[in-house]
Amino acid sequence: MKEPVIWDIPIPEITLDEVFQAEGADYSQRLPHPRILKSHHQIMEEAASLVRPTAIWVEVGVTSTGVGELFLEDGYKFTSNLLPKVAGTAEKMLLISITIGTAIDDRMEEYKKAGKMSEAFALDACATAYVAKASTTAMSRVEDAYHLEGMKTTFPMGPGHSYWKGLEDMQVIFHFLRAERIGLHLNDSNLIIPRKSVAMVMGVGHDLSDYKGKTHCNFCNLQTTCPLSQAV
Ligand code: SF4
Repeated sequence: MKEPVIWDIPIPEITLDEVFQAEGADYSQRLPHPRILKSHHQIMEEAASLVRPTAIWVEVGVTSTGVGELFLEDGYKFTSNLLPKVAGTAEKMLLISITIGTAIDDRMEEYKKAGKMSEAFALDACATAYVAKASTTAMSRVEDAYHLEGMKTTFPMGPGHSYWKGLEDMQVIFHFLRAERIGLHLNDSNLIIPRKSVAMVMGVGHDLSDYKGKTHCNFCNLQTTCPLSQAV
């Protein structure tokens, strides 16, 4: 296994529409009230000053596959029906975690404690939009690097989606990533702390099936109706 690599990711631009989408707000039939627009612009400005997008990633060798299992170096394995199907011929797995840091979570807590729930809600939506964009940036960067080397990559997948239900495999990802170096850890439920962070894996190899623009959502029984599909 190589040493995990840490990247600072440039702060991405997010749009008001993306923030509304993360809130689940639908303004397709009516315009938001000017007061809502003003408060959202203020919160977006504040969010931009608080996010620190960082990624940590590592390559891990694939040793073999089984039914619903993908075996990794050092005797570790991932348990998901989709993984051996999509990444069964991968030579290695790229494991990556992306976070936007703790400052935005801290500020949300301050708003909640002060009873400013709409500010906390809007800031939470900004954070969701930021982590989604930062993840896209980081994944594109690693994909481009592999493609330049003539390697193929699968679409990103991760524990916690319907095709990979158990979050226990987060422990495998974190074992290899040693993500505490960028301030990440798992809580007792195997959720990443700070909250606005994601972890994904991607198969890498010379002989991978081409899924032609499909994502993990195409293999999920929730399809794109689930709110998570906006976030990763
Ligand atoms: S629809 Fe996509 S984002 Fe939602 S659970 Fe399924 S794979 Fe995950």
